[in-house]
Amino acid sequence: MEAKKLNLTLNIWRQKNNKSVGSFAAYKVQVSPDASFLEMLDELNNTLELKGEEAIHFESDCREGICGTCGLVINGHAHGPLPKIATCQLHMRNFKDGETIWVEPFRAKAFPVIKDLMVDRSGFDEILQAGGYVSINTGGVPDGNAIPIQKEVSSLAMDAAACIGCGACVASCKNASAMLFVSAKVSQYALLPQGQPERYMRVEKMVKVMDDLGFGSCTNTYACEAECPKGISVTNIARMNRDFMIAKVKSKEVEA
Ligand code: SF4
Repeated sequence: MEAKKLNLTLNIWRQKNNKSVGSFAAYKVQVSPDASFLEMLDELNNTLELKGEEAIHFESDCREGICGTCGLVINGHAHGPLPKIATCQLHMRNFKDGETIWVEPFRAKAFPVIKDLMVDRSGFDEILQAGGYVSINTGGVPDGNAIPIQKEVSSLAMDAAACIGCGACVASCKNASAMLFVSAKVSQYALLPQGQPERYMRVEKMVKVMDDLGFGSCTNTYACEAECPKGISVTNIARMNRDFMIAKVKSKEVEA
């Protein structure tokens, strides 16, 4: 037997583009508790299009919590009320019949709204282009795997590499800081032998681009860690800060 549908009111942010003023629009929906949050938006869009109205723009791709594109602020929480999941993994059974749900885009100066719930997160790409790679020749796959790495160290690097670049850390930070994202990307290389030759150049370049793009500073509220769908730890920020300080000292040594 099909589960009883939930009657919900969705207050969804509608905004034509970055120049226009946005506002909330209310929609009444009936949805299966087994539907995902994005499937509910798909159903709503089908209804709107049948009525000749413009669909609500939002981002999604893999719908498996991997790609990092589907970020929404739901009832004030980036990716919704549950810990350690992306918006695409949130199911409607986590809401109550008759509930009103507020749906907004990620809000940050460095993430300008494109339309409705879509924001431009290409700033993250620019930060990665500045240093989020290993450009030295580390040999083929067998060569890389032949370097012994302690289990605890490789686990820390893998934990940092779990960042999916969704931007929830920025959206949940009162300063719109990108420190959790950048520190995860810095750490995944800083912990491994292959990342050592460019370690200090990398952190300086990535932090510079982050600052130039207008992301805010970290003031240690840990909101980023609380809302991160992949449980990225703020200890990565401490590691990045240490590397940044060492990079500055090394630069001075070169100048002297
Ligand atoms: S650190 Fe977490 S919240 Fe920030 S971009 Fe990576 S996965 Fe998303």
